[in-house]
Amino acid sequence: MALSSFEQDRLRLAAFAGLERLIDSRGGFATRDELLNFELEGKRFPLIDYSRGIRNPAEFDETLSVVSADNGPYSDHIGDDGILRYSFRDGDPLGGDNRKLRAAMTAKKPIILFQKPLPNVYVPVISSFVIDEDLANRFFLIASGEESWRSFASGATDQEISKQYVAQIVQRRVHQPVFRARVILAYSRTCAVCRLNHPELLDAAHIIPDRDAEGIAHVTNGLALCKIHHAAFDNRILGISPDFVVHIDGDVLKEIDGPMLKHGIQEMDGVRLTLPRKQADWPSREALADRFDQFVS
Ligand SMILES: [Zn+2]
Repeated sequence: MALSSFEQDRLRLAAFAGLERLIDSRGGFATRDELLNFELEGKRFPLIDYSRGIRNPAEFDETLSVVSADNGPYSDHIGDDGILRYSFRDGDPLGGDNRKLRAAMTAKKPIILFQKPLPNVYVPVISSFVIDEDLANRFFLIASGEESWRSFASGATDQEISKQYVAQIVQRRVHQPVFRARVILAYSRTCAVCRLNHPELLDAAHIIPDRDAEGIAHVTNGLALCKIHHAAFDNRILGISPDFVVHIDGDVLKEIDGPMLKHGIQEMDGVRLTLPRKQADWPSREALADRFDQFVS
């Protein structure tokens, strides 16, 4: 039986908050089992469906989540405008699972969009919106983040600015979380410098910063680093030469301070990076060389 609409909204937002905590503790993604066995307020509350790419809880009037399938039977895709084309589910375009997704559009309810960059790796974009549908081509349009929706809906007075703006949002909301998941998995959930094995304390650092045009969201432009080594890398306390060796700034090496400085930073000087198992995932030597030039200058 459907709950009151107030209660539905409350549960929906509680589920979003719980999912955010879950993925933060896992390094930015979750597995199928974790999503199926998700608990909300002491009760099991699956965030994805067992067998379908859409989760329509019986007690909800609107869809809770969709899983974007890149090469699945439906083949959804994200266009250049950053909007996902999500195919209608089989059967009646106005009935079945399509009905609750359309209801989410009409009621402007936020949903969770899951991407699956790798098998059993679910990366959520929380607060995605169904902004429109294309009945002729049988798909819904799903945008990530409220701003991108507003910018889309406003019709954009300045097309170019709006395009750039949406592209930035897509980069941040859709591509970054996937980048993070790919990098952290490539490094088996450990810091490449100190091997710290706590995904909740790991970041996917960019070698060439993502504000640069070359700062592509590819694994080879990434390094799994713990928070301290990420900050040290970004602040040029720590550099990595193209032969995968860690270097600590000369002045910092001379400082005298507590155990974090001594063991966490100074003793990393000369350490060789712990690289991904797959050589195709190793950091780009060219990118490291570029970045290392800035460190030594
Ligand atoms: Zn570390």
